[in-house]
Amino acid sequence: MERSKQKQMNQNENETDAAINGHFDGRVKVPGWSAGGAAGTPSTVPSSSVMESWREERTRSLEDNEMSLPSIAAAYTTILRGLGEDPQRQGLLKTPWRAATAMQFFTKGYQEKIIDVLNDAIFDEDHDEMVIVKDIDMFSMCEHHLVPIFGRVHIGYLPNKRVLGLSKLARIVEIYSRRLQVQERLTKQIAVAITEALQPAGVGVVIEATHMCMVMRGVQKMNSKTVTSTMLGVFREDPKTRDEFLSLIRS
Ligand SMILES: [Zn+2]
Repeated sequence: MERSKQKQMNQNENETDAAINGHFDGRVKVPGWSAGGAAGTPSTVPSSSVMESWREERTRSLEDNEMSLPSIAAAYTTILRGLGEDPQRQGLLKTPWRAATAMQFFTKGYQEKIIDVLNDAIFDEDHDEMVIVKDIDMFSMCEHHLVPIFGRVHIGYLPNKRVLGLSKLARIVEIYSRRLQVQERLTKQIAVAITEALQPAGVGVVIEATHMCMVMRGVQKMNSKTVTSTMLGVFREDPKTRDEFLSLIRS
């Protein structure tokens, strides 16, 4: 397996987009972390207010889907004509509607809120060993070309008295991946959501993905994979913790 493009991104350097998930305007600051740049001034955001802000996350409703379906389908008819096809030929008669419905499904992450996933799923627990869920399947859409990105997500965190139901990590991946994305942002959003929810000692997220826009056009490298990672807290500051995480997800 060739990895023609490999990016290791240690996030958080010169970070200015603390509101990356759109949940809050401030920066989550866990005691003992240096989440900001060198001159980062600590500003504590209590978890209660963070949870409060999740309720305001903008979503698309099922009614919105129904309302917009005809116009999305009409747009696909225009695309078919623009491609030199005849939208009236038998095989294409229902294609605009099918494509519109499929596109709404591919982006159904806009219909869901992180707060709904986390409700009743955060537990007080004295567990202080690393929690890892690896090989979570991920399907997303490249926001530059509107073609699929797919791959696997590996998540690890070191709890600080709070843990999350294991299946919820996959649900967080699902919500952020079923939107128009770039892989770097997706990686970071997952790590930030876990940080906001649990205020853990540290979080690591690694995504290995294939971009169809790279595979089918441009460089046309069949087996190229893009790897991104976000390391926060002790995963970022302590090489031993980070190495433990990286070796466990590769085993
Ligand atoms: Zn693309």
